[in-house]
Amino acid sequence: MWLGAHLSISGGLPEAAQTASELGANTFAYFTRNPRGGSARQIPAEEAAAWQTARATYGIGPTVGHMPYTVNLAGNKTSVQTFARMVVAEDFRRVESFGGEYMCLHPGSHLGDGAEAGIERVVDVLKDALPRSSATTMLLLETMAGSGSEIGGSFPELAEIIDRTGAPPTLGVCLDSCHLFSQGYDFTTAAGIDRLFADVDRTVGRDRVRAMHLNDSKFPLGSHKDRHEKLGQGSLGKAGVLNILRHPWLSTLPLVLETPVDDIKEYGTEIALAKSWLAESGGLA
Ligand SMILES: [Zn+2]
Repeated sequence: MWLGAHLSISGGLPEAAQTASELGANTFAYFTRNPRGGSARQIPAEEAAAWQTARATYGIGPTVGHMPYTVNLAGNKTSVQTFARMVVAEDFRRVESFGGEYMCLHPGSHLGDGAEAGIERVVDVLKDALPRSSATTMLLLETMAGSGSEIGGSFPELAEIIDRTGAPPTLGVCLDSCHLFSQGYDFTTAAGIDRLFADVDRTVGRDRVRAMHLNDSKFPLGSHKDRHEKLGQGSLGKAGVLNILRHPWLSTLPLVLETPVDDIKEYGTEIALAKSWLAESGGLA
């Protein structure tokens, strides 16, 4: 099982691998550039080489970058679209340069212009900026909570973006357990998870689903609100989290915590807790 948390790579990728290991993690997420500004740290070749050694040393599996929140592919200003094109192209190449497997993207916000207009703008940016092939790297559209004018709050919307972009092999999907619970998928019941897979299979398809953000939710089922909670302390609770950890297919994905912590050591506590729940439950379902 690949289980980890969102860490910083500002001190270097090898250091992040070591930190992950110290937290009991064997994968991690990181921002592909400053999440609120936009400036990017270049990864020197020596760091990329040291990263390959470190990930082997610490047994780090597929990693899951996250693009900044300041990029909005569905924005309606030319400057916003230009910035989005630049960030998608540059970040993809940078992540690819060190062999990063995945990078997640919030598809964007249509800012009141409607989903159709927003999806068209997202597709325009992806067609221009997303490489059509890569030996290592995929851009993953994140399943959003569907609040406000967010694009990507349902599987049909994500499938439409993928199809209209021409379904390149470099484009996939990242699940988020908090957001999906907010969409109405009840992880606390077998029926809820069955419905999730039925919807995945008839829209984006399982092959494109490559990672999951493992978060509990502060709000109840179907709230369409995006407020993460620590594992077991929200509406998914221990039962919902365990249904993911024990699921024969979901448990094969890199599972990355983005839960609210003041100190990353708290991720270590949560990861240990998740592992203990899994052990006492008897492992995979
Ligand atoms: Zn996200």
